[in-house]
Amino acid sequence: MLGLMQQKPLLITTLLEHAALNHPNKEVVSCPIEGGIHRYTYADSLVRTKKLAKALLKLGVDRGDRIGTLAWNTYRHFELFYGVPGIGAVCHTINPRLFDEQLIYIINHAENRFLFVDTTFLDLVERLMPRLPTVEAVIVMTDTGNMPGSSLPNVHCYEELLTEQNDDLEWPEFDENTASSLCYTSGTTGDPKGVLYAHRSTYIHTITACMADVHAFQEADVILPIAPMFHANSWGIPYCAPAVGANLILPGRDVSGAHIKTLIKQEKVTKACAVPTIWLDYLNQVEGTNEGAGSLGRIVVGGTAPPRSMFERFHALGVEVAQGWGMTEMSPLGTVGKLKASMMDLPDKVQLDLLLKQGRGIVGVEMRIVNDDGKELPWDGKAFGLLQVRGPWITSGYFKRDDSPVDEAGWFDTGDVATIDPEGFMQITDRAKDVIKSGGEWISSIDLENAAMGHPGVAEAAVIGVYHPKWDERPLLVLVPKGDPPEKQDVIDYLADHVVKWWLPDDIVFVDELPHTATGKVQKNTLRDTFKDYELPTV
Ligand code: ADP
Repeated sequence: MLGLMQQKPLLITTLLEHAALNHPNKEVVSCPIEGGIHRYTYADSLVRTKKLAKALLKLGVDRGDRIGTLAWNTYRHFELFYGVPGIGAVCHTINPRLFDEQLIYIINHAENRFLFVDTTFLDLVERLMPRLPTVEAVIVMTDTGNMPGSSLPNVHCYEELLTEQNDDLEWPEFDENTASSLCYTSGTTGDPKGVLYAHRSTYIHTITACMADVHAFQEADVILPIAPMFHANSWGIPYCAPAVGANLILPGRDVSGAHIKTLIKQEKVTKACAVPTIWLDYLNQVEGTNEGAGSLGRIVVGGTAPPRSMFERFHALGVEVAQGWGMTEMSPLGTVGKLKASMMDLPDKVQLDLLLKQGRGIVGVEMRIVNDDGKELPWDGKAFGLLQVRGPWITSGYFKRDDSPVDEAGWFDTGDVATIDPEGFMQITDRAKDVIKSGGEWISSIDLENAAMGHPGVAEAAVIGVYHPKWDERPLLVLVPKGDPPEKQDVIDYLADHVVKWWLPDDIVFVDELPHTATGKVQKNTLRDTFKDYELPTV
């Protein structure tokens, strides 16, 4: 028997409509590329988003068309987040930090018909355009006064397109499973893969993300998403803020610690989200001043594991830190580290150990760990295996690709290796491709790297598996020293206090720098190539 509740499709535009009606005077504040501060209300935003939608229709945008954006976090990008999916098209956020060849691949694979670009990316698009056959026109996201000259034949000015329209538009109603946005993973292995979000998945992710143990968003908040809008939709926050009626602060292109500090102070930001490097820069700006963190009450940090000292430094400023783990393929939220009531009386050190784990599952996300044979492993905090997830905002397949990333039961392999403890706290111990398989046992490269980073003579550390005739693979520790390289034996002795004996690296090499991807992660595949013929002294 079916229930008798209304079948109202979960469409993204209803979030902005809600904000404009119930919180008409709450604000979206941005730092536009032109400089200064731009502020308008959700009511203003809805009017302009409708004008944008009409401009898109006039350009000939059809349902399902992919509309590319190369843009920072600003109000115009925010309007595209609603206006494009609002008419049934797909907002394709492109990471401008990728290399030319990756950008060309992504834009062609997505078959973008139009590109909306900040003035800062016009040069880039001009350079790539001869190799972008599907792109019919470029819309520069600025006003006529700031419109740069361009060698391209088909260029429009964003504000001019909007001026030509009125806001007399009823959003069309369609199936909530319609695609809404598209984001490619950075492609550290192979070609970038397109993750195609839907209205329904985005809507459910939004509501869940606002929960008290996740982002804890409410109307009284002033929210600053620093994660770029081209990185898993800025972790979904441009949808959350209107849903709860909170002020939304969009930092523009300058995400330096100094600018973030100014914004937090000026706009009285209460909650903000970013990767660890941004927060380290912010801490360096704030500490040593007598200003403190002001209104900032809680931050979420994710993307890579934050160091222990980051928690301690924020706690000293009176700011709660929650770690988030997720992936582009997961919209992106999977777990958040928030202590349970039963953990509140634990000693500080034990609480910190728990907060350093990646967090516990959010309702809607099912998690499990399995071994190489697909056998499920226990949640004992010790056994580590491949982390798999499933749920309504997790990908079921990549855009225009036949190979499925999920198994028959719907489990998506995250490519992470993790433990899960009896309280449900998941801890990443490695990427599956980076784990070192030594004599049938696994060694966590991340644990070894973290331990090595604690040595006073080490600036950066990476561990890779190198061929060994007896053990298959053994760990090689690649170090960037702080100044003069420390004695190898001294590093080994130091590590011996932190990891089990059979995990100790068979050798150490010193390098001037480590190779990094466009998103700042160490390129282990490049390191593996460099050291593929390396002969370990233990052979
Ligand atoms: P890419 O960097 O390839 O574009 P994502 O941004 O989707 O892909 O990164 C997802 C991966 O980032 C996760 O699978 C995980 O390995 C890593 N990651 C994300 N958050 C955390 C975290 N809090 N701690 C450790 N690793 C994390």
